[in-house]
Amino acid sequence: MSTTIFEKGRSGRRGYRLPENDCPAEGLELPVQRTGPVGIPEIGEQEAVRHYMELASKNYHIEKGIYPLGSCTMKYNPVVNEEIARLEGFAGLHPAQREADVQGALELMYGLERSLSEICGMHSFTLQPAAGAHGELAGMMIARDYFRNRGEERDTVIVPDSAHGTNPASVVLCGFKPQTIVSDERGLVDLDDLAAHLSDRTAVLMLTLPNTLGLFERDIDRIVGMVHEAGGLIYMDGANMNALLGIVRPGEIGIDIMHVNLHKTFSTPHGGGGPGAGPVGVSENLADFLPVPRVICEDGRFALSYKSEKTIGRVHPYYGNFNVFVKAYAYIRTLGARGLREVSENAILNANYLMSLIQESYHVAFPGPCMHEFVASAANLKKHGVRTVDVAKRLLDYGLHAPTVYFPLIVDEALMIEPVETESKETLDHFAGVMNRIAAEAKEDPKLLHEAPRNTPVRRLDEATAARTPDICWLD
Ligand SMILES: *Cc1c(COP(=O)(O)O)cnc(C)c1O
Repeated sequence: MSTTIFEKGRSGRRGYRLPENDCPAEGLELPVQRTGPVGIPEIGEQEAVRHYMELASKNYHIEKGIYPLGSCTMKYNPVVNEEIARLEGFAGLHPAQREADVQGALELMYGLERSLSEICGMHSFTLQPAAGAHGELAGMMIARDYFRNRGEERDTVIVPDSAHGTNPASVVLCGFKPQTIVSDERGLVDLDDLAAHLSDRTAVLMLTLPNTLGLFERDIDRIVGMVHEAGGLIYMDGANMNALLGIVRPGEIGIDIMHVNLHKTFSTPHGGGGPGAGPVGVSENLADFLPVPRVICEDGRFALSYKSEKTIGRVHPYYGNFNVFVKAYAYIRTLGARGLREVSENAILNANYLMSLIQESYHVAFPGPCMHEFVASAANLKKHGVRTVDVAKRLLDYGLHAPTVYFPLIVDEALMIEPVETESKETLDHFAGVMNRIAAEAKEDPKLLHEAPRNTPVRRLDEATAARTPDICWLD
């Protein structure tokens, strides 16, 4: 067990020496005035640096190894994007600066908005939402105001059971009623169940595409046709765009509203709460509902336009998370159209390769080619008393990050695996080798798995308590 930085400190030790204070210490009789010691660790700079290096080396991160969390697209993000985002001309901007002084920043936002529209085949995008779920909410608000504006009372949103968990939550938050429809034996939208739920109360079908099973809806044309016929809109959760870049332009298949996650597909490191960005794209008839301000370009000058009577308003202070835009734009411009398509082709190839390597040890929920991720199951190990959580914990002993577990809910003992395009064949071979070895251990020596992890700084945590009543304060 490592000690905290407080325990490493020694009374009177310092890391930094300030010049002698020559200000009189009078007139500070404030109610907030400190009466005791400040209570920060007293430690030298070298010890402090070593302490944090030690903590950092215990952490698992994409620079350390594969991060196969399904649905999260934990790809390697080129360092050059970070450097560009840190350029003084970007990082030093204030959001309240005059338009004339921030033409470059506005141009970048304009260029990103146009690039996303081109990549997705949508009419226009807003960059404001700070996350995927935030984009979903903004998209639902656009749909709500669209129907209000038309005087239509549509209050339900259909969500397949293969959708991402945030989808029904966003629906409810926006005041719509969610209706779940089931997947068929292919893991795709059951068209009969869809037909049974469509009515003149249907506002939106909210489709995660590819869905959380890593499958593309083969009947997308019919699905779109059915929903439009019923007068509804189609919202696409495009957080899985990593499978579709340069291959499918959602606007061309009839998607009305969608979001993308810049912090997944477009190379912003994520985890730990952000910052991220979940831009929302719409078809032409919905463009007036987008949040304001919007960046416009007139005679080569960039400006912020607040002109819109139908706008849903703002969904973020100022313009969104600008430094994420810089990284995404740098990424898109570096790769270009061909490079982006290769991203998706390699993401799909890697997922199918990995699936083929482990499918004898683990049951694959829906066999056949997958998109950029697939869902395996450890249900076949139950007879040895082993569950998915044991497999996940054992992976940690081998120095690997576990995949997403117990999601999607429609697969028993799910292991949702997304290798992403940036991993090499050798890394995938290694990961699959360990997965297969763990399946063998489950049969021969299940105790090994039950007691895992053994080699980590802490063993098995009580995850529910850790999440619900975290105790993160050093002081009693
Ligand atoms: C990650 C993800 C989301 C949510 O995105 P956040 O940025 O975490 O809010 C929504 N849908 C899908 C399919 C996702 O993978």
